[in-house]
Amino acid sequence: MDLFEYQGKQYFARFGIPVSPGGVADTADEAVAQADAAGYPVVVKAQVQVGGRGKAGGIKLAQSPGEVRRHAENILGMDIRGHTVERLWIERASDIDQEYYASFTLDRGARKHLGMVSARGGIDIEQVAAEDPAAIARAHIDPVAGLGRPDAERLVEEAGLDPRARPGAVDILLKLYRCFVDGDADLVEINPLILTPDGRVHALDAKVSLDNNAEFRHPEWAAFRATEVLDAREKLARSKGLQYIGLAGSVGIIANGAGLAMSTLDVVNQAGGSAANFLDIGGGANAEVMANALEVINTDANVRSILINIFGGITRGDEVANGIVEALRRVAIVSPIVVRIDGTNAELGRAILKEQASGRIETQPTMLAAARRAVQLAEGARA
Ligand code: GDP
Ligand code: MN
Repeated sequence: MDLFEYQGKQYFARFGIPVSPGGVADTADEAVAQADAAGYPVVVKAQVQVGGRGKAGGIKLAQSPGEVRRHAENILGMDIRGHTVERLWIERASDIDQEYYASFTLDRGARKHLGMVSARGGIDIEQVAAEDPAAIARAHIDPVAGLGRPDAERLVEEAGLDPRARPGAVDILLKLYRCFVDGDADLVEINPLILTPDGRVHALDAKVSLDNNAEFRHPEWAAFRATEVLDAREKLARSKGLQYIGLAGSVGIIANGAGLAMSTLDVVNQAGGSAANFLDIGGGANAEVMANALEVINTDANVRSILINIFGGITRGDEVANGIVEALRRVAIVSPIVVRIDGTNAELGRAILKEQASGRIETQPTMLAAARRAVQLAEGARA
């Protein structure tokens, strides 16, 4: 789950990372009130989950209430690369001497945490990595040992931060690492981390991505969930208790188990197609779950064919087939459906589908055959 900048800054503040005082605003009036509270000059910042807001005109300095109002009116409703601005963050403006970069993320390949610091902040880190990779100091951190003060000191020294900024930067790195680990984040990034002319270091931007697997131990994340930006398909799925991940292809996929769903995605690719979604109905797929899954997929305009891939274990093939038949009764499905059922009671399941749903769906004996057929149907070809 990705946080907005203002939420990321609230999260940072919990771990003692210095941020500027400010508040959120959904209207120009609220923006002026927040600016009055924060103290002028202020920065008016578009809250959208996409980088480069500054360049897009979504971040403006304001010296007076009148200027705040004018910028707020311009920025609210603005489209920044497909994201509509519905909320602003107003904070006291900082004087900037230098802009740095700092982040922690997980390096799965290395099985370690990865810390990165650069003296070239305020621009896209990918751009720095491409133009001047030596300008990024990196440290792999053993997750058991954690980040020690000497590691943090070495990072800021290697990155060549101004000597005045080093103690403050080390302090922030240690806190940022605690935020990353104790805060259960996949990514914490500060860009820019600034040095002010009077020698203070603090976070001017915040990018935080939380690890959904840790949600059970963070009841406070409910507030972040409430503002999460989901597409319409994901919203409908969430309301029905399904985990639906929207993708850009044309084959809608329903499978039981995350592993099988992922394999199905791969096999669809192997068959020359691409998935429109990832939908795992989990174990014990009854008619209700299957109907909900088909309903969600049915609302996805990208879907040209539906591939249902079930491997029966505890889940029995006949129950799944009855579920599909029941689903077809309840939901008018737009796209052709290809089913592959294997495992427990698979034959019984196929027989039920043949008897009660023939003509509307077809079965295939293997995963690859089913994927090929679904891809063919998605491309509008006839058998
Ligand atoms: P992004 O473009 O979406 O990454 O948004 P940022 O929050 O990183 O802001 C972009 C740029 O705006 C920063 O790199 C700064 O140069 C500038 N900026 C943001 N806040 C302030 C501020 O308080 N004072 C000044 N002088 N510039 C700011
Ligand atoms: Mn930034």
